[in-house]
Amino acid sequence: MLSLIKFPRVFSINQVPKVFHEDSIISGYRHPRSSATDCILSLFQMTNETLNIWTHFLPTWYFLWKLVTVVLMQQGWQDTFTWPLLVFLFSCCIYPLASSCAHTFSTMSVRARHICFFFDYGALSLYSLGSAIVYSFYIFPDKWLNSTFHQWYIPIAMANTIVCTILACYSRLGLPFLQYNHDVVKRLPESPKFSKFFRILAFAYPYLFDNIPLFYRVFLCTGEGCTDNDTNMLHYKHIALAFITGFLFAMRFPERLAPGSFDYIGHSHQLFHVCAIIGTHFQMLAVEQDLVMRRSWLTVNSIPVSFANSVGPALLCVVLNLIIILLFSLPLLSAPACQESKREKDKKKQATKHCSCY
Ligand SMILES: [Zn+2]
Repeated sequence: MLSLIKFPRVFSINQVPKVFHEDSIISGYRHPRSSATDCILSLFQMTNETLNIWTHFLPTWYFLWKLVTVVLMQQGWQDTFTWPLLVFLFSCCIYPLASSCAHTFSTMSVRARHICFFFDYGALSLYSLGSAIVYSFYIFPDKWLNSTFHQWYIPIAMANTIVCTILACYSRLGLPFLQYNHDVVKRLPESPKFSKFFRILAFAYPYLFDNIPLFYRVFLCTGEGCTDNDTNMLHYKHIALAFITGFLFAMRFPERLAPGSFDYIGHSHQLFHVCAIIGTHFQMLAVEQDLVMRRSWLTVNSIPVSFANSVGPALLCVVLNLIIILLFSLPLLSAPACQESKREKDKKKQATKHCSCY
């Protein structure tokens, strides 16, 4: 059956515009003006994005299954104490889904690429908020319950989500309306390192903030009230995986050692996806176990769960993130378009043309 389908051609790095280049990835690029059908077909052919897509598309269903299980089987919606878990599981579905969609459709045009990754960054920011909400109710060490830091933890995490979505979107093209290039094809700075620094900061900072109570609990706390229970082993695992994930993202390892050798299988972005998902899996197991083990203690001694401190902040940040993405996307959507005929002609010629309207 598959042999009857004509898969789109793939290109080398020199045949696609610079904005599509990935460091040390030499081949396997899709056409920079792929149709939506070609993008979907590319899921079933080997390109340098195929495993990026599948490594987040399949886990989306795993986390969705977990979410549905809690909602339907355990009737989580009626039990306010499980609302933070529902928010967290929702964020665990959204970030791999947004990522797999971004990787699938990012080669439709330069504009589509930027907008796709704006959604990817927004979803990652929501995941950091989902982690903060679930941590606030299940993993805070006994010592810190009801402290001033605990009371401000979710509001600060909400502010982080907004700031970090803005920062990550800013890292692509600068500020909308003020700094975007007229031809919208270049990344923000001439130096990609500058752009990458902002993006790493946008993801690392909320992660480090969210984990302050957990790092304190498992690495620093001594004496009474440290919540030193069996779940700590699971927490060690997801913390270790998070650091490996960050290392892979930042260092572009292993492809930087042998450019071109890992174009299709084994490059850092695929490993980054896999480590992030395994880390999220262990994080989910850890928070579920803390929920079960500490529930009776937390119900009596901690801040009670309400709509206003769990589902409400998540919904508000979904709306605010969508507004931010819209603001960053509007100038791209309203930028002058190439004449359709010229674009079609260029497309037929070949992908090497650096048309400003890609
Ligand atoms: Zn990705």
